[in-house]
This record gives sequence, C-alpha cells and structure tokens, in this order.
Amino acid sequence: YSAESAAAQANREGEFAAPPSASVTRFSELTRLGVNQGLVDALTRGMGYENMTEVQSMSINSALKGIDMVAQAKTGTGKTLAFLIPVFQRVLADRPELADRRGIRRASSRDIRAIILSPTRELAEQIGVEARKLARNTNIIVQTAVGGTRKREALVKMWREGCDVLVATPGRLNDLLTDPEAKVAAPKLQAFVLDEADRMLDVGFADELQEIQKSLPHRHEVERQTLLFSATIPRDVVHLAKSMVRPDNFEFVQTIK
Ligand code: ADP
Ligand code: MG
Repeated sequence: YSAESAAAQANREGEFAAPPSASVTRFSELTRLGVNQGLVDALTRGMGYENMTEVQSMSINSALKGIDMVAQAKTGTGKTLAFLIPVFQRVLADRPELADRRGIRRASSRDIRAIILSPTRELAEQIGVEARKLARNTNIIVQTAVGGTRKREALVKMWREGCDVLVATPGRLNDLLTDPEAKVAAPKLQAFVLDEADRMLDVGFADELQEIQKSLPHRHEVERQTLLFSATIPRDVVHLAKSMVRPDNFEFVQTIK
C-alpha cells in the first residue's frame, strides 16, 4: 500500500467512471465538435449526406483534434470526406475570414494552407470536385494541379483566383514548388494529405514524395497536420508513414468494413 499506488488506482477508477467519449457519427452533429456551420450545411443540405461511414467517423473525430493520422479503409468507404472535413476546418481556424462567402479575399498562390496529393489525374480531379462542393458556403478556393494539362494555364488561374487548398499529383506539385517562376508556395501550410498512399508507391512516386517534403516548411516553422490514407498498408507504406507523421502525436485508424 503506497500512496502512489492508491493515487494510480483512484486515477484508474476515475477513468472507468468517466462516460465513454461519444463519437460523432452524423454530419449534422459536427457543429458540436466546433465544425463551421457552412461546412455542415454543405454536407447535409448541399450534398445530402446524413450518416458518416465508419472511416469518416473515426478519422474526423480524431483528426479534428489536430493529430496526425494514418488511416486504412477499403475503396468506396468515403475516405475523401474523411480528410476533407478536418482539413477544411483547419484552414478556417487559421483563416477565419474565409468562413464568410461574401467576404473580400486576398488572392494568393503563395500561401497555400492545405495540400492534398493523389496518385492520378482522375482521382485528383474527383477530389477537387468534392472539395469545391464542401467549400460552397465559404471563401475557400480549391485549385487542382495535375500532369498532362497545361502548366501555364493552371498557374494563371492560381495567380488570379488564389489558392487555399491545392489538390495535386506528386509530379506536378514538385514541379510547381521547385519552379521559382511558378510563384507557388506554402510557407503557412496547415495540412498535408497523402491519399491512396499504396497506389502512390506502386506508381513510383516515392522519390517525388521525398522531394516535396523537402520543399515544405519545416515542422518547427509551422504546426502542420499530416494525414495519410490508404486502402492497404504494406511495408513500404509503413516506412513512408513513419517518415511523415509526428511519432508523438499520431493515431492509426483501421476499419474492417
Ligand atoms: P474512397 O476514397 O474510400 O474510395 P470516396 O471518398 O471516393 O471513397 O467515396 C465513395 C462514394 O461514396 C462517393 O460517391 C461519395 O460521394 C459517397 N459517400 C461518401 N461519404 C458518404 C456518406 N457518408 N454517405 C453516403 N455516401 C457517401
Ligand atoms: Mg479515394
């Protein structure tokens, strides 16, 4: 019977007595977690969604706390919104003036707040479409930069309209970040998402991913949140994840369904 063990026991009992942390599973309940009403309206009234999928509920509840995350869930389980919602909320927390769609915005391609990487042009375009739907009640500007399209055209659009959230393929992003003429930069990056990490490595983007990480601001400069999503987690994805997430501030989310 030491004082220490009594305290430890009291602590344990306290933990057991506490109600289980109630996870939000409906989009309309997200306001309870502090999510912007415009985002919630876009999800419920705009897109017509009601209940979250398993990976959405698990990821959103955790990622809204700002921690890094590696999430595994099968194709078709709604991983896009699982990362878009916490990412958008983080962008709005950093730039609250963007929450008002009628507000005046200063267009800039030099202070991107979130970057989402996708292995293929088609998937990146799909994410872009979903992200713009989510942004409809806000002043957040989503741009897409993928290979196989005219770089100059995409750049002019980014310079003119600005860019808060960039959806890109690794090759094109690396190209933009390393080309001083492009005037694209992310010194205030708040969120970095790697979607379909397993396919990203299959396609052979490992080198580009390393290069991109070197171009991004260092962790001591900006508190950036990293989210990695994948249908499967083979060994090379584990390695990649370890090179990206903060080991002391991360969670692994795995769904069976
Ligand atoms: P994944 O990236 O896991 O393959 P997607 O994000 O592409 O999945 O979503 C698959 C489909 O499910 C899309 O058509 C999307 O609009 C739809 N969807 C996503 N979340 C929900 C939800 N909570 N309720 C109903 N449909 C959803
Ligand atoms: Mg997907």
